[in-house]
Amino acid sequence: MSVTAAATTPATPATPITRVAAYAAPAPGVPLERTTVPRRRVGPHDVLIDIKYAGICHSDIHQVRDGWGEGIYPMVPGHEIAGVVAEVGADVTRFTVGDRVGVGCMVDSCRVCEHCRNGQEQHCVQGMTGTYNAVGRDGEPTYGGYSTHLVVDENYTVRIPEGLALDVAAPLLCAGITLYSPLRHWKAGPGKKVAVVGLGGLGHMGVKMAHALGAEVTVLSQTLRKEADGRRLGATHFHATGDGTTFEKLAGTFDLILSTVSAPLALDAYLGLLKVDGALVNVGAPEEPVSLNLFSVIGGRKTLAGSMIGGIAETQEMLDFCAEHGLGSEIELIDADHINEAYARVLASDVRYRFVIDTSTI
Ligand code: NAP
Ligand code: ZN
Repeated sequence: MSVTAAATTPATPATPITRVAAYAAPAPGVPLERTTVPRRRVGPHDVLIDIKYAGICHSDIHQVRDGWGEGIYPMVPGHEIAGVVAEVGADVTRFTVGDRVGVGCMVDSCRVCEHCRNGQEQHCVQGMTGTYNAVGRDGEPTYGGYSTHLVVDENYTVRIPEGLALDVAAPLLCAGITLYSPLRHWKAGPGKKVAVVGLGGLGHMGVKMAHALGAEVTVLSQTLRKEADGRRLGATHFHATGDGTTFEKLAGTFDLILSTVSAPLALDAYLGLLKVDGALVNVGAPEEPVSLNLFSVIGGRKTLAGSMIGGIAETQEMLDFCAEHGLGSEIELIDADHINEAYARVLASDVRYRFVIDTSTI
């Protein structure tokens, strides 16, 4: 354990009083290194989480490289957090010490706007507070899950069901909810043909969940290298997008296409794969803009949409769904000193299918 109380620090609630071990990028594009970061005092509504596992999301890589801009450094990434409650604030009602819990991409929001009230906190009109690379409502920078401990409001904490091991549950907090939410919103289920583009961290959970929801699932991957895995995860069909005939062969096939690709997508080509009234939902967050020929959506009354994670209640629903169907993430568990190596493999589309950090090695 590396929570150290700094006895000399004044005991005001907003003042960080502990420093915890973490891995941080000191500046854009610089390899991550071991450091310590402050955590605030446990407030009345907070829980202190002893982090056990943290998933590595491609969003971590975009952000440490400052690919989306406005990065805050040093940056401790990590928004796929699984751990155990170590302490609860005086007014906490939903958790007790020892509970298995998770934290995803947000740790706060305004709580009063229409979206926060509707359980869509990720669309808070004042902006959700990101788990890292953000400034909290107390004015302090937030630091993510590549760390040993986290203090977070109980309302932004979810329960990890007993049926899910903490290591395979961690990636569900971002990769899981990011695919579950659009699958539910666009009603993936029996009789629906769903394609998942990109078999990485997000994509592999999309395949598992779409299959569990009863849809007929196709993977569209750059090559056929991951075909056996795709079929094992629940896909009935698997096609290489690098094969010149794929787009012609599959024209007009799908009700729903979910793109998880981290690079700009050839939107017109993928829109051509939709049925009339079909939807292409993009969850990948590339660093550059993409172009679109509007005739690609005019003909066939097609929808091009985006989706960002999901609300807190829906995240809990997703975890319960995954526990019920036995859907953990496929992971490669790594020590913290392999984080930079793992980043290189994710960038090479060589992750099978989520790196998860054993935070006891930080
Ligand atoms: P990932 O594990 O790297 O998976 C992305 C997959 O996309 C790769 O495995 C690869 O699959 C495919 N791909 C990569 N580069 C490609 C290219 N140039 N052309 C075509 N396909 C390519 O990443 P991830 O963690 O799943 O995240 C994916 C994206 O979603 C990132 O941009 C991330 O920031 C974003 N994201 C968005 C949200 C949201 O709320 N919207 C949440 C989390 C993450 P194949 O090998 O099968 O081709
Ligand atoms: Zn993520």
